[in-house]
Amino acid sequence: MDRNAVSPSVLTAGDVSIHIRQLFDRFGIHAEGNWDEDKLRILEESSFLFFGMTPENYKKWFWTENLVVRLEDMSKGGLTSKNLVLLNPANLTSWTVVHELAHAWDASQGWKLSTWMARATGSQFNYPLFHRMFPKSKSFWYAVGNPPPPCGVDANFNKLEDFAESVAAYLFPEEAKKRAEERGWSYERFGCQNFHETFRGKWIDQLVHQK
Ligand SMILES: [Zn+2]
Repeated sequence: MDRNAVSPSVLTAGDVSIHIRQLFDRFGIHAEGNWDEDKLRILEESSFLFFGMTPENYKKWFWTENLVVRLEDMSKGGLTSKNLVLLNPANLTSWTVVHELAHAWDASQGWKLSTWMARATGSQFNYPLFHRMFPKSKSFWYAVGNPPPPCGVDANFNKLEDFAESVAAYLFPEEAKKRAEERGWSYERFGCQNFHETFRGKWIDQLVHQK
């Protein structure tokens, strides 16, 4: 027997469609594209984690009613607009799924969630025009209030990314801590051991538990 042979998916096409149906019944997600067993498992686990943030009532998440989650080849890991999450099937991770679901949630609320968080943390672009002219210049990057940011800051960081990264960090605090350290934003510098102890961690906790 060839030890290197990749074991074929044990899910038949019929099984896959049952799982996709369950995703819709539980969470209202329409999964489109070519889902195999591994990717389906990532989507299912991520959905349980994401929607489980408010386990007392899944129906709170009624905004997913028209949400399509589609696998699509592209250069980015994921891309979200209102009612549509595109996920790159290459290197799909739970982090990416949760991050994109957070964008979709924010989009469904007219991007109010990220705006509230920016206001609560006191974060903004101090020089938006210069940032557009010199995107690589750190002096003009998004100014993070109430640090640490969930995973550090880069040229693409803004209030939308701050919110989506915070939701992902809330669900994967270990991974977030590692990413923040790699970018020179160690939580310890701000007296925190874990994302949940940070200002953003507490803010997300309040958001998901509000009645
Ligand atoms: Zn994003």
